[in-house]
Amino acid sequence: MLLELLCPRMIIERVQDLDVEALWAQGFRGLVFDLDNTLVSWRRWTFNPAVKAWLERAQAVGFHVCILSNCVFGRRVARFARMYGIPAIPKAKKPQKKWFQQALDLLGTTAQQTIVVGDQVFTDVLGGNRMGLFTVLVLPVDRREFYVTIVQRTAEKLILFRLRRKGLLRDVAEEHSGILFQSH
Ligand SMILES: [Mg+2]
Repeated sequence: MLLELLCPRMIIERVQDLDVEALWAQGFRGLVFDLDNTLVSWRRWTFNPAVKAWLERAQAVGFHVCILSNCVFGRRVARFARMYGIPAIPKAKKPQKKWFQQALDLLGTTAQQTIVVGDQVFTDVLGGNRMGLFTVLVLPVDRREFYVTIVQRTAEKLILFRLRRKGLLRDVAEEHSGILFQSH
């Protein structure tokens, strides 16, 4: 049971690999983003142009978007919110459910209508699955991370290996869509 809660619905290379038009057509209306190593490299203060353009496209399609970050540096998260006009919740404690509920309240969407995108199994995916969101794991933007995260990465690799072995994750890398795995 725990293993299933750790299983993302999809694994992608970069956030831009998400097909926002297709997801909108499927009925999704909200996107909750992790910040560090999902939208930006660790310690970056701005989005790269490709990520910025993709976020604007998602919003143009109609998606309500927000940032839900465990980052303790509230000023940095607030700056992203201000610069890009994207509401953000800093200093969260994912995978606790109440923070995901706050994000849903901010978006005005239901759990079933909402996608969470993040680079960590034990915070973004676990919390999102517990709340019934559609969970998308993205490969980390870079490797400059806190050592705690690095310790977690090793555990994540083991979990992903077990999910694949149990047949919960299907390898779709051959389709060259940027989607690496999908759950059944
Ligand atoms: Mg992250």
